[in-house]
Amino acid sequence: MGNEISCGAKLMAPIGRREALCAALGAAGILAGRPRAAFAEARVMPPLPQDEAFMRLALEEAAKGDFPFGAVIVRGGEVVARGCNLGKTNSDPTAHGEMVAIRDFVAKQPASEVSGATLYTSGEPCPMCMSAIIWCGVGRVVFAASIEALARKIGQIMLTSRRVADAAPFARIAITGGVLASEALALFDT
Ligand SMILES: [Zn+2]
Repeated sequence: MGNEISCGAKLMAPIGRREALCAALGAAGILAGRPRAAFAEARVMPPLPQDEAFMRLALEEAAKGDFPFGAVIVRGGEVVARGCNLGKTNSDPTAHGEMVAIRDFVAKQPASEVSGATLYTSGEPCPMCMSAIIWCGVGRVVFAASIEALARKIGQIMLTSRRVADAAPFARIAITGGVLASEALALFDT
């Protein structure tokens, strides 16, 4: 269990268990014609000046993972949680970097405090992680490599974070992609 400390693997707080994914409903065609209020509040946002520095911390986490995925959660300009992929270490296929970071966060402070925080992740969140991010009320997600790019390296469920967010009418989350993407992808070649 040696490398667990740096990745927060000791933190086994249960995650939300309620709702199954409904992301498939996010296809624009399905929702076309619905009232405006039925659409999600997800919006694509350009990078901010601080994004690269925080993404580098997420990439540092990724370099520690069983697979090269890592995440940090930032609130008030400070890193308050971090995680890397521990799928093999924990024998837990759900231990993606984002999930481990969320568990790290809720183990240390009330989950409500994640509201409005920013989650930086080396890879675009998969549908499972993006759903968890939405359930937690994260205000903004910033990713490096897109699912489309990651799929050329490792198997992916081909459903973008935007589509998951668009399928959640209550979600108010900003999404920024492509920050240090080439560096995130290069971790698969080391
Ligand atoms: Zn994931």
